[in-house]
Amino acid sequence: MAGKGRKSKYNLMDKACTNVACSLYGKTGMSNIVSNGTIKVKQSENRRRFLCKVCGKSFSSRSGQPFYGLRTPEEKIFSVFHQLLVKEKPIREVAKEVKVKSDTIRRLLKIAENDREKTNELLCKKLNVSSTKLKTLWDSVRDGTLHERAMAIRRQKL
Ligand SMILES: [Zn+2]
Repeated sequence: MAGKGRKSKYNLMDKACTNVACSLYGKTGMSNIVSNGTIKVKQSENRRRFLCKVCGKSFSSRSGQPFYGLRTPEEKIFSVFHQLLVKEKPIREVAKEVKVKSDTIRRLLKIAENDREKTNELLCKKLNVSSTKLKTLWDSVRDGTLHERAMAIRRQKL
């Protein structure tokens, strides 16, 4: 009988692997996530741990953020998005400014686009950017017109 009310508090089918290198990264309902105990993070707070059976990586219930597990440090990731969104620079200039490879930025954008909802939420909070700016960025990413976007903005400023 598939009825309501008998769902466990933690439905593992809702969980997705947070390892971007995993073939099931971000995919839910694949039965690859199993419970892996809890860890104590504060006096009163236990965090659930999960394990992905496909890649063997474990993660905690708080690590479901888009950029979790990347080798690029978080500050750099946010600097990249700051340059892209607030300064509205093209990828090449952002790469120079933040000292990361253009390919890394392209990869970040791809990951971000795959998890756009969470990324938007995160970027809104961290960088205080408007949803309009975010939408323009994603449109440019989708159309491959990031460079044109930057140039158009530059022309307006002249
Ligand atoms: Zn995995």
